[in-house]
Amino acid sequence: MSRFWSDIVHELTPYTPGEQVRMPNLIKLNTNENPYGPSPKAVAAMQAAVGDSLRLYSDPANATVKDAVAKRFGLTREQVFVGNSSDEVLAHTFHALLKHDKPLLCPDISYSFYPTYCSLYGIEAVQVPLNVRFEIDVADYAQPCGAIIIANPNAPTGIALPLSQIEALLDAHPDQVVVVDEAYVDFGADSAIALLDRYDNLLVVQTLSKSRSLAGLRVGFAVGHPDLIAGLERVKNSFNCYPLGQVAQAGAVAAIEDAAHMARTSQAIITTRAWLTARMVELGFEVLPSQANFIFARHPRHDGAGIAAALRERAILVRHFKQARIDQFLRISIGTDAECAALIDALKAIVF
Ligand SMILES: *Cc1c(COP(=O)(O)O)cnc(C)c1O
Repeated sequence: MSRFWSDIVHELTPYTPGEQVRMPNLIKLNTNENPYGPSPKAVAAMQAAVGDSLRLYSDPANATVKDAVAKRFGLTREQVFVGNSSDEVLAHTFHALLKHDKPLLCPDISYSFYPTYCSLYGIEAVQVPLNVRFEIDVADYAQPCGAIIIANPNAPTGIALPLSQIEALLDAHPDQVVVVDEAYVDFGADSAIALLDRYDNLLVVQTLSKSRSLAGLRVGFAVGHPDLIAGLERVKNSFNCYPLGQVAQAGAVAAIEDAAHMARTSQAIITTRAWLTARMVELGFEVLPSQANFIFARHPRHDGAGIAAALRERAILVRHFKQARIDQFLRISIGTDAECAALIDALKAIVF
């Protein structure tokens, strides 16, 4: 608290990220980082970008990154926006596209940054409850609103909506922007990018942090109708014209172009997810059906926070949310096979 703060600072509820503790032999399954490294081609491209040219500002238009995204998805450069992480892309999206006279709709259980952006930008939001199976039911969004945002697959549940349901949402709200945050889409869900040529009210946001294993690089992007992208560019260029440095641009391009690396590592995570889910079910856990690089699970006889604390004593970090309806669940990122095997051994000792 300080008398120098602006009024809005008093009102904010900042997002609390998962812990980034450094300790030896830690098994870190709490922030959905990818256990496999980024594309070696991306690492090489970044190393090559470090040099005398860093005295120059980076390209404010992020043209090379936009072109790589456009090429990958069969779009034009005008349909692509690039930012310093998808969190930044989302922040600009809230600012540029989601503030209207009517409230923004979002799921009650979803990425907890959404309410934070609402408080930052003064956006009224209505949180639509997930159904009893912790799914988004698009019928529940049939109400007057200014815009809609969902995550698909949703976080922290991991449950994905089929594209037919996203289409139903878009059809029901032709005059509202519908944002689909696809941070985890590469782990088994269908991307709404396939719908872009038919819906001018759709904005899809993706990140290089999860499936491309570049959480530390901070690159994200959005794709949508050029008019939506132009709105985002206006906010971006009123905030920071150079959100990505040259090193990040070079790494992002190479990572996006190395589709084979992403496919291989994502498939490994999907395989491990199935193994981990089966072992957790054997231990008595209820595991929600995940299409993400994490699972969301609870045990009928053991307290979620208690299991998380017991795992922590064994140097295994998982994420627990103190939120109504989900406070018995643990969100566990999919690690390497060895890390997941160590987790199962620890859980055997805790839940028996
Ligand atoms: C991880 C995550 C993001 C943020 O990704 P960054 O690009 O690392 O900022 C956005 N949305 C959801 C749902 C996420 O889980």
